[in-house]
Amino acid sequence: MRIDILSAVPSLLESPFNDSILKRAQEKKIVEIKVHNIRDYSTNKQKSIDDYAFGGGAGMVLCIEPIHKCILKLQEERKYDEIIYMSPDGELLNQSICNQMSSSYKNIIIICGHYKGIDERLRDQIVTREISIGDYVLSGGELAAAVLTDAIIRLIPGVLNNETSALTDSFQDNLLAPPVYTRPAVYNNWKVPEILTSGNLKAIEEWRHEKSILRTKEKRPDLL
Ligand code: SAH
Repeated sequence: MRIDILSAVPSLLESPFNDSILKRAQEKKIVEIKVHNIRDYSTNKQKSIDDYAFGGGAGMVLCIEPIHKCILKLQEERKYDEIIYMSPDGELLNQSICNQMSSSYKNIIIICGHYKGIDERLRDQIVTREISIGDYVLSGGELAAAVLTDAIIRLIPGVLNNETSALTDSFQDNLLAPPVYTRPAVYNNWKVPEILTSGNLKAIEEWRHEKSILRTKEKRPDLL
């Protein structure tokens, strides 16, 4: 999978992809993530990428041209399955959207907005899908794009190993994940549930499933 992210502040996206699981996924060539600075596509002398909103009002708007130019250049090189705009009024991201994107997309572009957002004509003419990561407003789309990218990539076969398998994570089967513990078995007189150290794999499996159901009933009954 290839993910091209368009940003006004590309440095914000330097660290999320350079460690741990996402770094290894790139090293293993399972995914290619490219961050593009839309300022490189500005055609004016000042290299500006934003302007005042028509009609007045507070806040700058990202201009149509640099973003469109960057997309056109990328489209010369390959076909994209989707051009996604991160936006608080988009489809609310959830695990089932991540599963769908991870299994059906080969190349995607993600546009990060900034300030008041991007020129609406990009959304009308170019963008094919809009995603929100929650009902709150961030200062830019970069952190949202990092969330989406992480959530999609970890689902691609080969990215996670057995120890971190996505299948046993929350939401995969509409259940929350069961509690987890590690050594030491007793700390400060707080004990790990005995069953987990019993070695009885079948009983442990059942215990985990029960805990998952209980936890979901308690915390997220809407999932059941
Ligand atoms: N004026 C816009 C908010 C702009 S925030 C509004 O009121 O809807 C600046 C940028 O941050 C947006 O263009 C978008 O790319 C990103 N952003 C902010 N909140 C987000 C969210 N919840 N999900 C995804 N992207 C978000």
